[in-house]
Amino acid sequence: MTAKTNRYPRDVAEVVTAGLCTSCGLCESIAGSDRIKMTLNVNGFMRPGVVSRVDDDVNRTIMRVIPGRGVAGPEASPDGYGNDRWGPIRELMRSWSAEPQVRHHGAAGSFQPGSAAP
Ligand code: SF4
Repeated sequence: MTAKTNRYPRDVAEVVTAGLCTSCGLCESIAGSDRIKMTLNVNGFMRPGVVSRVDDDVNRTIMRVIPGRGVAGPEASPDGYGNDRWGPIRELMRSWSAEPQVRHHGAAGSFQPGSAAP
């Protein structure tokens, strides 16, 4: 039996292995394409590959800012969520396809701004 761990990925490779990469390319932008290079994988998604060793300080910078490491939101409040950049968020919902092939191969986030208007 494998022990379940509850920790954040420590580097880009762990983000990708955990299936948390959003294909944003920020890691390549920070490290440089001589260290991390975005390429198309066999499923047709852009994913970073570590080309050469990433210095510890650069890795720390990447892991501090990338979306694939984890996203935490504010605590719920009766007035909705507050955020200086996004404004008030009254409700967040998740949905997914009932078709396994679509669900496992189509990964896209979306935001419907019109639904956020008061
Ligand atoms: S920075 Fe973006 S592309 Fe790179 S591992 Fe994180 S989520 Fe994926």
